[in-house]
Amino acid sequence: MREIIIDTYLCSGCGTCVELCPEVFRLGEMTGKAELVTVDPQITGAVYEAAAYCPEKCIEFSPPDS
Ligand code: SF4
Repeated sequence: MREIIIDTYLCSGCGTCVELCPEVFRLGEMTGKAELVTVDPQITGAVYEAAAYCPEKCIEFSPPDS
């Protein structure tokens, strides 16, 4: 199953992913960077959309069979 990987080093905390897909992404209160709302979220079209619109390109997906 694919997993969502957020590169928090690159994340600027712009909040675009949270706007597009608040079920899956939120900004960490302490870090101000994107994090997952739940441990194992379903990867919906909105998640791929958020990844596509992330200005830092820091939302990635693990390979399918890992
Ligand atoms: S869209 Fe990208 S840069 Fe912006 S908060 Fe989300 S992960 Fe971070």
